[in-house]
Amino acid sequence: RKLTTNEIRKMWLDFFKEKKHHFLEPVSLIPVEDPSLLWINSGVATLKPYFDGRKTPPSPRLTNSQKAIRTNDIENVGVTARHHTMFEMLGNFSIGDYFKKEAISFAWELLTSDKWFAIPTEKLYITVFDEDIEAYEYWINDIGIKQDHIFRLTRDTNFWDVGQGPCGPNTEIFFDRGEKWDKENIGPKLLAEDIENDRYIEIWNIVFSQFNNDGFNNYSELPRKNIDTGAGLERIASIFQDTPTNFETDIFWPTIKQIESICDSKFKYSIENYFDEKIEQTKINTAFKVIADHVRATSFAIADGVFPGNKDRGYIIRRLIRRALMKGMELGINGPFLSTLVINVINAMKDFYPYLLEKQNLIESTILNEEEKFLKTLSKGYEALNKMIENDKKVTGKNALLLFESFGYPIEQTIEIAEDKNVKVDIEEFNYLLEQAKEQARNARKDLKAWDKQNEIFTKIDVDSEFTGWEETKHENAKIV
Ligand code: ATP
Ligand code: MG
Ligand code: MG
Ligand code: MG
Repeated sequence: RKLTTNEIRKMWLDFFKEKKHHFLEPVSLIPVEDPSLLWINSGVATLKPYFDGRKTPPSPRLTNSQKAIRTNDIENVGVTARHHTMFEMLGNFSIGDYFKKEAISFAWELLTSDKWFAIPTEKLYITVFDEDIEAYEYWINDIGIKQDHIFRLTRDTNFWDVGQGPCGPNTEIFFDRGEKWDKENIGPKLLAEDIENDRYIEIWNIVFSQFNNDGFNNYSELPRKNIDTGAGLERIASIFQDTPTNFETDIFWPTIKQIESICDSKFKYSIENYFDEKIEQTKINTAFKVIADHVRATSFAIADGVFPGNKDRGYIIRRLIRRALMKGMELGINGPFLSTLVINVINAMKDFYPYLLEKQNLIESTILNEEEKFLKTLSKGYEALNKMIENDKKVTGKNALLLFESFGYPIEQTIEIAEDKNVKVDIEEFNYLLEQAKEQARNARKDLKAWDKQNEIFTKIDVDSEFTGWEETKHENAKIV
């Protein structure tokens, strides 16, 4: 069956409305009164006050489709088939109402019943927490899952716990995309041993919020147990539209096509260039996907009132825009172009997020402004590089680092330009100084308290990515303005 993203979302919400769930509109990506989160990163993140009893929910059964941002997945974007910076999480929730048995049978009915998603049952695989006998038995006895389609895994993958408060085992549902996606033909072992792969795509995670962690890993049964689930809309769309990755679905395809129209490269997918990072076309495809992903995430964040800056959310938006621009350069696009893609994002998403239309001008002008700023910095860097070459007839490691840190010049780019002018770059010295700078940054970070987990991961990403030089921009005394 072929379904559009809009149809899938609607079917999900209709199903849970039919099961007496109250529909909640999506809320801002900016968390409200929650210093522990930089971004709303899941459907349940918006419902915390209901779960911890601070507020009474409009119904004990809730459903939503919530935009979410996960900075810890940025490096996965365009590399795996299934990760985005911003994605939409479909959810159903029970606040002290139904529990494991019903949550499992709702999921199964929606996924497999002819009236709903009608996914062939043999395509679905299940994981459960090994100590959760209850869930295992529901799957086997009530649902009729075959033994070779269910795996009992450890805490690492199948227990949801943030260190304090409600927590519990989860069960995850995977879709098998077939052997084609399993180059070495490893099979279900990929799941059983939690090996990163694009054959078994995790579509739905159901958390049985059953215990309370007192903060010292002492667990007691919660008097009122909750269900919290999340399923990736883009992933389900890629299953129904039978696409190699989420990026060929109706949500991203118009953007990909428009990028093609403004550069000389083509987005060309084949199984070989999907797996092999050494193939030039793989890099090209990744660049397309990163641009399409980042422009969408950025558009949504700006619509929610986040603007490029040197701190927190603003810094992440700035980085996403700059990263997308660099990917554009890899495709041979030299001027600002991101803001021209915004209309595709709006068209693909406006049915469920009509406010995007009202914000179109704001989004486009904010992105364009940031693009121009960055391009200016880059061209200043080009001037600086030319002066260095003129004066020294080489590029010292120190200068290469300066270009990197102050002008966002990746070392590869410096080398390319220098080589064009028959000049050498002291790469060894550069690498040595870069290591030193990273070490310093790491030490400085140890002093920074109150980073949330997302932030911590993101800072780590900075260190290892091409944008290390922008580390500084997170602090008040930013080098790049
Ligand atoms: P994965 O293991 O694939 O990274 P996850 O276990 O981290 O997923 P959950 O935290 O369980 O994801 O989130 C619930 C659901 O949201 C997932 O089952 C998946 O369908 C979807 N999802 C999670 N992260 C992303 C992402 N970065 N982009 C798109 N969809 C996502
Ligand atoms: Mg993940
Ligand atoms: Mg997972
Ligand atoms: Mg999961």
